[in-house]
Amino acid sequence: ERVLDVMRQQGMPEISVAPGYGRLLTLLVRLKQPRRVLEIGALGGYSGICLLRGMPADGILTSLEIREDFAQIARSNIAMAGYAARSEMIVGPAAESLARLVQEGRQFDFFFIDADKENYPHYLAQAIALASPGAVVAADNTLLGGRTLNADKNGPSVQAMREFNRLIAQHPRLMGAHLPAYDGLALAIVK
Ligand code: SAH
Ligand code: MG
Repeated sequence: ERVLDVMRQQGMPEISVAPGYGRLLTLLVRLKQPRRVLEIGALGGYSGICLLRGMPADGILTSLEIREDFAQIARSNIAMAGYAARSEMIVGPAAESLARLVQEGRQFDFFFIDADKENYPHYLAQAIALASPGAVVAADNTLLGGRTLNADKNGPSVQAMREFNRLIAQHPRLMGAHLPAYDGLALAIVK
């Protein structure tokens, strides 16, 4: 609640993950016990704190965020929650940061995809490339306010999200499911 207050004071968009899904992220991370978690799209750090709350004491959260001003607020909120030492923030376009992480041979056990929607299929491919065996992928906003299910809506984000949802259902490396509450959350494990 304090993080959301700070974000409102700073005039940030009110698009943090829904509280119920934030709690679900904490719960999933608590079940999976991932040492290395990668979040794509940090905003004010709300989902990052939800992830960190479920992680083991030696777990590190890496967050990718394109806006330096948002990254700074996220850092400060994550510090306020007591997790400064376990948070790594990489500022820049996520596609570039992901390519660098792949090059460096980094691996992650849990992914939360929640940045620009047009790149979701690309982010999923990069997550699979960075995944340790059995890694979990969660992704927010798979319904896009209902537009992914509305045949009259065919903008670039909608088309990308439809493709993303198809991959969650059918990608040979994934076993996935779709939760249609709030704005939609996709879950998958990387086989
Ligand atoms: N995960 C956050 C909300 C993220 S909102 C939460 O639930 O608390 C989407 C975020 O993605 C915004 O902060 C936006 O600046 C960032 N973003 C948009 N395009 C991006 C890109 N190409 N690379 C990295 N971050 C991006
Ligand atoms: Mg979201």
